[in-house]
Amino acid sequence: MQNAGLQAAGIDGLYIPWRVKAAGLPTAFEALRGMENFGGANVTLPHKEQAVSLVDELSSEAASVGAVNTIVSRGGHLFGANTDGQGFLRSLQEEAGFVPRGQQAVILGAGGAARAVAWSLGEAGISVLLILNRTVERAESLADLVSRATGVSAVGLGPDDPRVPERVAACGLLVNATSLGLSPSDPPAIDPVLLRPGMLVYDLIYRPRETTLLLEAKKRGCQVVGGLGMLLYQGALAFELWTGQKPSEEAMRTALIQALA
Ligand code: NDP
Repeated sequence: MQNAGLQAAGIDGLYIPWRVKAAGLPTAFEALRGMENFGGANVTLPHKEQAVSLVDELSSEAASVGAVNTIVSRGGHLFGANTDGQGFLRSLQEEAGFVPRGQQAVILGAGGAARAVAWSLGEAGISVLLILNRTVERAESLADLVSRATGVSAVGLGPDDPRVPERVAACGLLVNATSLGLSPSDPPAIDPVLLRPGMLVYDLIYRPRETTLLLEAKKRGCQVVGGLGMLLYQGALAFELWTGQKPSEEAMRTALIQALA
């Protein structure tokens, strides 16, 4: 996707995958500082949170979310940003026409992606946020963080809490930000009986294109969106940070769809 964007823009550059062990991350960042032809990078699972302490400067969004997914090198000075939340919001608005202001939403999960989604929804004026996570303490601490950072009314619960059915029923948006669904044999990330017609169900997972959750949600008359748009838009924003120009999103989308097929 990024190489297609570089090629379409006529930029003599290359985007390559690096697999880095957690213990080797500080060394990898030091190596990036020393490279004269390094423009920037993405950081992905499971390093986004550790990257916060390894860059030289943070965007306000990366600092609030507590995770970095994009690094920009300015002469060896590493600037850490986070484009996941903005990518998610753009996908939500363009692909589903969903306007968060004044709405209630539920997020499944409390990891790096859930943090970016929660923060962006809080910033976009969502009125009430429910965070459900297997590890309840992480749901509670994310709810606390997002309500302090954005002023949204947020609550974190475990998936089996008796308050869940009534609270989920009040939500117009449900977002799956867990890794449940990556395997076709995974159960849906929430009991499908809690989904109601008209609800927008957004799954951050982009492979498979339709997770078990989305299939169940469709059967129940929900509007459904998968994570491909978010992946594209967070990447397009990163491209803009590295190069100072907007990429050809068409070229990137085509490459992405081919790569995921
Ligand atoms: P993390 O590892 O940081 O978080 C994983 C989350 O999933 C945690 O909340 C974890 O709960 C929960 N979880 C994992 N396994 C289970 C299970 N068996 N049952 C219930 N809950 C489970 O990952 P990320 O937040 O970085 O990514 C989450 C998902 O979002 C991934 O599928 C990733 O592919 C997708 N993603 C998509 C993007 C896009 O652009 N479309 C961008 C970023 C991520 P617990 O806290 O209890 O461990």
